[in-house]
Amino acid sequence: MPTAEEAQARLAEIPNLTVSTDTPLAPHTRFGIGGPADIYAETRSTVAFVAAMEAARASGLPTTVIGSGTNLIVSDHGFRGIVLRFLGESLCVAGQLVTADAGAELQDLVDFTIAHGLKGLETLAGIPGSVGAAIYGNAGAYGHSIAERVEQVTFYDGSPIRFFTNEQCQFQYRESIFKRRKDWIIFSADLRLDRADAAVLRQTADEIMKVRNEKFPVTMKCAGSIFKNLLLRDLPPAVAAQVPPNVVREGKVASAYFLEQVGAKGMERGQIRVATYHANLIYNTGGGSAADLCALIADLKERVRQRFAIVLEEEVQFVGAVHGSPR
Ligand SMILES: Cc1cc2nc3c(=O)[nH]c(=O)nc-3n(C[C@H](O)[C@H](O)[C@H](O)COP(=O)(O)OP(=O)(O)OC[C@H]3O[C@@H](n4cnc5c(N)ncnc54)[C@H](O)[C@@H]3O)c2cc1C
Repeated sequence: MPTAEEAQARLAEIPNLTVSTDTPLAPHTRFGIGGPADIYAETRSTVAFVAAMEAARASGLPTTVIGSGTNLIVSDHGFRGIVLRFLGESLCVAGQLVTADAGAELQDLVDFTIAHGLKGLETLAGIPGSVGAAIYGNAGAYGHSIAERVEQVTFYDGSPIRFFTNEQCQFQYRESIFKRRKDWIIFSADLRLDRADAAVLRQTADEIMKVRNEKFPVTMKCAGSIFKNLLLRDLPPAVAAQVPPNVVREGKVASAYFLEQVGAKGMERGQIRVATYHANLIYNTGGGSAADLCALIADLKERVRQRFAIVLEEEVQFVGAVHGSPR
């Protein structure tokens, strides 16, 4: 089996792939937290990316893919293996079908569809991150998620490039098959949209953006919501009975409700803080560590577990051996 040096040498031979070693990952995350990756490689080329994944698999080294890092907690010790990023960002339209590369920013896709008078993604305005990760985690907001518009996803699973229909992607709330198969890498998605007035769509998106920018200032070092919301039907009946109707939306109970009950707002550990106005929003005030972030997350989970006998599930994803992370 090749050593890290041999893997790096093999990656360095792949045309159009940028490879570096001992690469700090903090700048690749919105939290601004995390140690270095042994090997980091990125490319805009599909051919180079497939070659990189084949080399990474052959190396036997732990390998992970990142997008724009807006939903990541990276260990303070970094990642002992290969971190790959696909930067292909092409957006194409044919009638009402839009094809987006995984490396495109979701916001660029939203703007692109609006400019073409295509309805269906405008409520996703302001969700940061890439299209690939949006498919992976079935990103959504304002009662809609990207899965509603996905027709087909193109991905790599070690065999030649494959395609999955919407059904095969097994989308659920913030879930897809790709979240359970972390070695499957999304290259692009085809999305089917409806025709609508571009000016009306723009207005909807702009209004949503305004609200979002107040809740999540663009400079805030965070990951949006730390925990997934809970399905009302999955709650123990005694807990469901305590939930006020106004915190239930589309059958989901905001995790923020439970967190608020256990005093989460304003809690802090080191340079990590829970927002005073939103109990499910944790941010790095500057110089924070993954250790403190995970300890605060663990503390909040434990408080909710003790008070309500329910276990909150992180929406945020972990890279490297993060203390207290679920993997
Ligand atoms: C301020 C703020 C607000 C947010 N609001 C929302 C919201 O309203 N709704 C919502 O759903 N999310 C929200 N999020 C979370 C985040 O925007 C989404 O999870 C987003 O999809 C992450 O994209 P990313 O490119 O940054 O992914 P990353 O954080 O880099 O990665 C997230 C996961 O995706 C995987 N991944 C990335 N690219 C690929 C690929 N090509 N193939 C397979 N797996 C891949 C990674 O391995 C990782 O596990 C918010 C985040 C922030 C910071």
